[in-house]
Amino acid sequence: SKTFHSLRPIVPLPPLSQPLSLTDYSLSLLPETAISNNIPALIDSATNHHLTYPTFLRQIKSLTSFLQQSRTPLIKGHVALILTPSSLHVPVLYFSLLSLGVTVAPANPLSSQSELTHLIQLTKPVIAFATSTTASKIPNLPFGTIVIDSPSFLSILDSNSNSETRRVETSQSDTAAILFSSGTTGKIKGVLLTHRNLIALIGGFCYLKHAYDDGVINEPHPVSLFPLPLFHVFGFFMLVRALAMGETLVLMQRFDFEGMLKTVEKYRITYMPVSPPLVTAFAKSELVKKYDLSSLRLLGSGGAPLGKEVAESFKTKFPNVEIVQGYGLTESGGGASRMIGFDEAKHYGSVGRLAENMEAKIVDPVTGEALSPGQKGELWLRGPTIMKGYIGDDKATVETLDSKGWLKTGDLCYFDSDGFLFIVDRLKELIKYKAYQVPPAELEHILHTNPEIADAAVIPYPDEDAGQIPMAFVVRKPGSNITAAQVMEYVAKQVAPYKKIRRVSFVNSIPKSPAGKILRRELVDIALTSGSSK
Ligand code: AMP
Repeated sequence: SKTFHSLRPIVPLPPLSQPLSLTDYSLSLLPETAISNNIPALIDSATNHHLTYPTFLRQIKSLTSFLQQSRTPLIKGHVALILTPSSLHVPVLYFSLLSLGVTVAPANPLSSQSELTHLIQLTKPVIAFATSTTASKIPNLPFGTIVIDSPSFLSILDSNSNSETRRVETSQSDTAAILFSSGTTGKIKGVLLTHRNLIALIGGFCYLKHAYDDGVINEPHPVSLFPLPLFHVFGFFMLVRALAMGETLVLMQRFDFEGMLKTVEKYRITYMPVSPPLVTAFAKSELVKKYDLSSLRLLGSGGAPLGKEVAESFKTKFPNVEIVQGYGLTESGGGASRMIGFDEAKHYGSVGRLAENMEAKIVDPVTGEALSPGQKGELWLRGPTIMKGYIGDDKATVETLDSKGWLKTGDLCYFDSDGFLFIVDRLKELIKYKAYQVPPAELEHILHTNPEIADAAVIPYPDEDAGQIPMAFVVRKPGSNITAAQVMEYVAKQVAPYKKIRRVSFVNSIPKSPAGKILRRELVDIALTSGSSK
């Protein structure tokens, strides 16, 4: 049949019946030398604060013990909302909560109050972990909110290292994380990823460690810099991967391009997982000349399309830095395909080959027929990293995951005859602004609440720096003179900054199908041909 199988070796995974949390699995992979040599696990680029592996492990233990023995103890099955920028505490929090069988639900700290209310309704957390700047946005939860940049939290982490922890039996099929994605349509949904999903993902990376980087980033000791947010699937699993492998990880609380360059120079960074807009910035910026970036060996790009030309101009400027691409979705637990080794890296424009233990089909969106190499269709994926479903949304779950376990990605793709995957277009509604998800339906809903707007539709508009920006087509109510700036401001007040509408065009009507579905393709064509209606 026309099923594509991973060309990687089959990665052995622990038996499914064995109780095992992602924390225990990751720490079982950790090289003993990371501990005995006191290797720094985590560094904060803003404060230069270090956590060595022994300290990291001690803090996990202290926090776990505290959460277990608190007046309102956290137990298996509880959900914890996490609302914080990257910091050294976040990995400690993830590892502790996961070892307790508590589900982590990390959200974008820039989320607006109404966005948060929705996430809380979806996931029903008993407790939140926030910072002094984000805590005020969180409503009352049964166990309250713990502020992790407070002195009292620090004293918990540094408390008695002999603290006792009771072992919790977590089954691999338990939910480890709820990450947020709008999937192929509509509003944000909570993606349920099990311990098994993430064990399979991390297991694959670690098993193929040497093939994966040709040994280049392991000599000298790998030091990676994470400009990625830790609440998104890409940052989440790359974080766990790096810590399971005993690498050193530098985190940035706030992203700024020059600060990032300084950090590369200062800590002799060897590897960075990045989103495509950052590759563009590297390729275009003159600032890069001011810093010694000679330690950099590898960039791993994912989360949104990386143009072939961008990759090539990057390579011209940085001939000694390899750039590999990966592709995945929150719903596939992240990495569904990637490039391994420098031969594969030369396939610019491709997103690599299917990840280990993964199967795929290319399905004709009209006939449902499975297609052959070279033919374009919707990519379907099946494998151990695929999500369990969407929390509290059976309808969306069965629309996305079929009864045989195939995940419908909503991406238009093809495989070449060597098994390289190419993403051609997005069939689903999703807009990606700097690799952040912007669901058009959510913005349309907000636009419809404006008394001066009769109808509206939101589409992706191409942008060199951001990849895509959200653009609104607006039909004014009779008598209204609402301006583009007013439309943009109306939305901006209600959403996280990355979701802002950045371009507006006024029209007399929104093209729709007989069934009332917005004809987005048509609008994209109008936007691209009219050009100047800012
Ligand atoms: P997310 O769940 O936020 O990771 O978004 C997943 C979607 O981002 C995919 O379905 C693709 O549409 C897009 N995407 C992720 N990685 C890539 C890539 N390397 N190339 C093109 N599109 C990508």
